[in-house]
Amino acid sequence: MKPKPPTHITVFAKADGAAPTYWECPSCGFLSGDARFLDTEHPCPECGAVGVERRRFPSDRVRRLDERIRSYQKQGDGEIVVILVMTLLETILEDILDRMMDAHGGDLPLRRMIMDSQRSIGVRIGKLFPALAGEEFEEAAAELGYRDFPKHWRTMREARNAFIHDSPFGGPRERLDARMGEDAMVLLDQAYRLFVLLNNRFVADGHTRS
Ligand SMILES: [Zn+2]
Repeated sequence: MKPKPPTHITVFAKADGAAPTYWECPSCGFLSGDARFLDTEHPCPECGAVGVERRRFPSDRVRRLDERIRSYQKQGDGEIVVILVMTLLETILEDILDRMMDAHGGDLPLRRMIMDSQRSIGVRIGKLFPALAGEEFEEAAAELGYRDFPKHWRTMREARNAFIHDSPFGGPRERLDARMGEDAMVLLDQAYRLFVLLNNRFVADGHTRS
């Protein structure tokens, strides 16, 4: 069953050379970049909850990694930027899948077992995501306005893998250049927005926590 169409508009946080700051409704999981959401009397646009403290998204762990990525980018170190952006994207994918499983009623031991046994990023995107969302990742991204994102992400993962593993398929990649570092930064900024949209569609809209 597909989730119902959104009843709200996602407000994006400002991207000013740092990780964006979103606030999360603990009742339904809705994420908003609207600073008014910090005021606990401002009702959640999704579930109407008031008087509950909102949590910050992304996590401090992701924010620290984001900060380091941006400093490597300033130094022009494209290789480390690509490698770390891929790590960060995999971390936030894991987070969104965990939230989706939670929205489906999966308890913590079950969610841990699934994430531990499904470590391949291809399986997480190609099998786990559609099982939870009821549609392909590519389809969901396109509907939310990010049609090219999955393809760009895949291309960059392949470049990273070839660089790190000297993949025998297609030959080893000697270097990841500065241009790829810039592309990775664009992908990173898009990823935050896309993951917030996916969250608001498949987590906040997908169920109402009791
Ligand atoms: Zn809410």
